[in-house]
Amino acid sequence: MINSFFYSSSEELFCDDFALKDLAKEYGTPLFVYSSKVILDNIKKLNKSLKGIEIDIHYALKANSTLGIVSLIGKEGLGADIVSGGELKRALKGGVPTNKIVFSGVGKTNEEIILALSKNIKQINVESESELEKIISISKAMNIRAPVALRINPDIKAQTHEKIATGSNQAKFGLPLNQTIELYKKICKEESLIPKGLAVHIGSQIFNNFEFQSAYEFLLNTANNIRRDGLSINNLDLGGGIGVNYSNSKIDFDGFGKIIQSVFKGYDYKLSIEPGRSIVATSGILLTKVIYSKKINKKNFVVVDAAMNDFIRPTLYDAYHPIIPAKKNNNKEIICDVVGPICETGDFFIKNTKLNKPNNDDLLAICNTGAYGSVMSSNYNSRPPANEVIIFKEKSFLIKKSQSIEEQISKEILL
Ligand code: PLP
Repeated sequence: MINSFFYSSSEELFCDDFALKDLAKEYGTPLFVYSSKVILDNIKKLNKSLKGIEIDIHYALKANSTLGIVSLIGKEGLGADIVSGGELKRALKGGVPTNKIVFSGVGKTNEEIILALSKNIKQINVESESELEKIISISKAMNIRAPVALRINPDIKAQTHEKIATGSNQAKFGLPLNQTIELYKKICKEESLIPKGLAVHIGSQIFNNFEFQSAYEFLLNTANNIRRDGLSINNLDLGGGIGVNYSNSKIDFDGFGKIIQSVFKGYDYKLSIEPGRSIVATSGILLTKVIYSKKINKKNFVVVDAAMNDFIRPTLYDAYHPIIPAKKNNNKEIICDVVGPICETGDFFIKNTKLNKPNNDDLLAICNTGAYGSVMSSNYNSRPPANEVIIFKEKSFLIKKSQSIEEQISKEILL
């Protein structure tokens, strides 16, 4: 793990070359601060774990689609996994070549399919018969052959938070085995389609590599059976899902790579993966300022200027993100909840954590907030979400300035 976030000898927290307090002074708080070094290091480790395999990596934009981040990752040669027309536009604007873009998701609209076909993207991962019918009719009308793969649902319930487990037969994702085989035959016969193979994605935050192994073996057996039926199938998309340990920032790229190496050894399928979280999660912190501390019925609360509209993972997924001070102090240690100003009890970042009691205006860093952070932010309580800064080549860049409340209300009308 590279040491991009560290305390200096004077107990100040740094991100690479910058003291967080200086970034707060320049850009305000709350503020997402990313280290480009960590992103590049994660990509390097992932590539190393896959050495010797011919595999395309499509970064899942849903994890963090801020253009500065997309373009950084695109320059490293990664493609993009997208789930909306908006993400397609971001990937293109971020410089990702069209032939490296894969379109996933259960609910692609007419407009999105037309956009994807007109941009000539690499592949659309189809998740239902009705979606396939729609793509056939649009491709005929546009006179463009549509490159399609089928997302199979392997009925594997990954041991992750239920909201991000996507591979069970109770989830909305993908197609069951029998339908996959049937539709694959249809795709091969249909002139307006280019068969691109199969895809699987069983969920996010997966730590048990045997779950990946089961899903990949299922995918491989299905593809082999399709070949035995005399049909051509060349591409297998293995999805994303690599777990990130938010407590210690560890990511098991090696274990993930080994599973792929072992399952597909000796086969000639062209493989691809769609990692999101594991590329960006550990690259970011959310820097926030303490507004007040209060004590009610022996319970301590530290109220900060970030809120669930900036970072919703703790309340949405019960996610644990450690919180550390931007400058250590020698105050008495307290057990406290760190909470935001929004009018919901669910507006918290951490519960019952130990902190040296912060003073008002002290800065705290919510750790490992680079994935599924800013992308899920909202204007709830009419709050502009946090700005975003990245440290790149020894400089800081404001890669996203959030919409001010004036900009937001300028799009609304009075009655
Ligand atoms: N691919 C698909 C189809 C997904 O739905 C997701 C996330 O849910 C991903 C890739 C990225 O997963 P992760 O961020 O866990 O790597």
